[in-house]
Amino acid sequence: MFLLVTAAALLLAALALFLKRRYHRQRAALPTGTLVSSDNLEQPCPVLFSTRYGLKGKPDAILRTPNGLAPIERKHSRAPHRPHDSDVIQAAAYCLLIEDNYGEAPLFMRIDYSGTWFDVPFTEKHRQWVFEVSERLRAARTKDTCSRSHNMPAKCRSCAQRPNCNQAL
Ligand code: SF4
Repeated sequence: MFLLVTAAALLLAALALFLKRRYHRQRAALPTGTLVSSDNLEQPCPVLFSTRYGLKGKPDAILRTPNGLAPIERKHSRAPHRPHDSDVIQAAAYCLLIEDNYGEAPLFMRIDYSGTWFDVPFTEKHRQWVFEVSERLRAARTKDTCSRSHNMPAKCRSCAQRPNCNQAL
């Protein structure tokens, strides 16, 4: 019995080592392609504007891959099981900005968390989602009051609008 447990433990340890090595190999392979601009390089990402879409934003990096340009959104938080919606819509907005500024629509967006990353296809659904949310934001800006849309104290703690906000958690 002791031998069986030891063998199982060794097998698990070997599997963990294999997965860890594979993960580090994949990380080392980043980026797949050439960085067009990145805040980690001497060529930082410019702020991108789109009058056509009414958007403005600054991706953390733009990558040229064999499949075209892609925005990279870097997050310092630990990787979730799947990318947060707020991160996906932010990266999708960058896809639209890249499309309007570089003349080519990205096929995917990379969301890079601490620990792993996700390559999310940029679809028509994402495009419409950005348009709808942008429209709602523009409409909300014309109102005198605007209701908080979340229940996350951590989000409020790091919010630049906190001093002006009467709904902060
Ligand atoms: S402080 Fe106010 S504006 Fe900022 S995240 Fe919280 S509720 Fe939203």
